[in-house]
Amino acid sequence: MHVAVLGTGIMGAGMTRSLLRAGHDVRVWNRTAARAQPLADDGATVAGTPAGAVEGAEVVLVMLWDTPAVLDVLGSAAGAAPDAVWLQGSTIGADGMLEVAAARPDLRLVDAPVLGTKGPAEQGTLVALLSGAPADVAAAQPAIDGYSARSVYAGERLGAASALKLACNAWVATMNAAVGQSIALAEGLGLDPALFLEATRGGASDTPYLHMKAELIAKGEFPPSFTLAGAFKDVELIRAAAREVSVADDVLAGLVAAYGRAVAAGHGEEDMAAVYRAFPPG
Ligand code: NAP
Repeated sequence: MHVAVLGTGIMGAGMTRSLLRAGHDVRVWNRTAARAQPLADDGATVAGTPAGAVEGAEVVLVMLWDTPAVLDVLGSAAGAAPDAVWLQGSTIGADGMLEVAAARPDLRLVDAPVLGTKGPAEQGTLVALLSGAPADVAAAQPAIDGYSARSVYAGERLGAASALKLACNAWVATMNAAVGQSIALAEGLGLDPALFLEATRGGASDTPYLHMKAELIAKGEFPPSFTLAGAFKDVELIRAAAREVSVADDVLAGLVAAYGRAVAAGHGEEDMAAVYRAFPPG
């Protein structure tokens, strides 16, 4: 299948390599060309413009930062592939997805955020959250299967998959901040944080996620799978969505404060586990 990928950041690059391994013909574009260029060695064609990337594509995967970036790039690319199915994979929330749909009623848009981070993107084992016209989803399914291990269909309504993504990310952002908080708390109370891991090991509250993030904190190294800046963007989106539907946002307010503090301290480009830095012991 001819697939175009717009945005080859952490996620877009991994998903491109997975699409290539699945046998698709992939053309990519990235705002910063140097970030797309290495994908040529994996077999992708690197285009100089968004329109050049999508020309002739049957499926276009959009994997950009936020709603303004998606609107901007679609504005310059949409006319070059009017018949393609456009998978909007960036995390932009239900409101962002509806804004994109309103701006581009001419496109066969599928709301298609993903669960999973750098590793699953590289391995092709993401979970694809999908909503949109069943025929468009079915047409794009071979490409979706190239980067995901399974799909969850949230219905025909555009915005439904993005809403589901927000609920999922609220869970992940909460767990991630809770890891940093408990480790900082153990340290602050004069304990070896390894005792916290040993005490919870094997119980119902133990999770691989705790060990993954605790390991980064123990090493004091935070190579990003998902940046702290991204997690901050998402908790702000989630809090705004919660307020719109009058869901109490006390916990989300705490997350916005903690992620915001760690970003303000200069850790935005580190992995989201660096939210630990928002809880400096004593
Ligand atoms: P990333 O590495 O920072 O990549 C962001 C991409 O957006 C880059 O291609 C960047 O281009 C592009 N971009 C940003 N602003 C732009 C603009 N104004 N115009 C054109 N392109 C622009 O981030 P990522 O982790 O791959 O995340 C991409 C999306 O997936 C985000 O919405 C994120 O929330 C979501 N997501 C991330 C993860 C994860 O674990 N990493 C998981 C699920 C979903 P440049 O290279 O030129 O900056």
